[in-house]
Amino acid sequence: MINIHRFTFNPFQENTYLLTNEKKQCFIIDPGMYGAEETASFINYIEKEHLQPLAVINTHAHIDHIFGLNAVIEQFNIPFGLHEKDLPVLENAATAAMMFGFEMPQNPPQPDFTISENEPIKMGSDEIEVRFTPGHSPGSVIFYYAAGGFAIGGDVLFAGSVGRTDLPGGSFPLLHESITTQLFTLPGNTVIYPGHGPSTTIKEEKESNPFLQ
Ligand SMILES: [Zn+2]
Ligand SMILES: [Zn+2]
Repeated sequence: MINIHRFTFNPFQENTYLLTNEKKQCFIIDPGMYGAEETASFINYIEKEHLQPLAVINTHAHIDHIFGLNAVIEQFNIPFGLHEKDLPVLENAATAAMMFGFEMPQNPPQPDFTISENEPIKMGSDEIEVRFTPGHSPGSVIFYYAAGGFAIGGDVLFAGSVGRTDLPGGSFPLLHESITTQLFTLPGNTVIYPGHGPSTTIKEEKESNPFLQ
């Protein structure tokens, strides 16, 4: 059984998630810690809980979701996975950081493995389904853990809102299609843990999200 733990980091108030199992293995999702203090607090948590990180996997590669990427890879010596369609976003990250006025001392690393909608991610005996949800970025994915009734949604669907589509590779019609076909087909009580803001459910967003009526 997988449990989820949320951290909120950086000036974008980005949600970084940890998925842990009973063997104390964990996946780091969207490491957004910015600066020494946030990085230290995250690493301290993992050490205090005696967790063993297996990999870092990203819903997409916008800067607010990768500020802490180099730090966790260096600290834990773990592989990094990303959908191949988000490679251009990753490669543009240093430029994007500069545009937004942030420091990105090192270029982000290349992925060590590709995340694909055709291949579930295994964590011990648990399986996490990958759903391809482009629109906010060209290679956005969500991670759906059916047995736990939740999904990590990145910047696709928020409580009462949706991801912005004005960044390079963004498209509102595509985002709308991703939400309708990949998220709204999940059971209504599925909890969505988004990249920003509080969690929500599929049912709640179907009924009241003003962007999707
Ligand atoms: Zn984003
Ligand atoms: Zn974001």
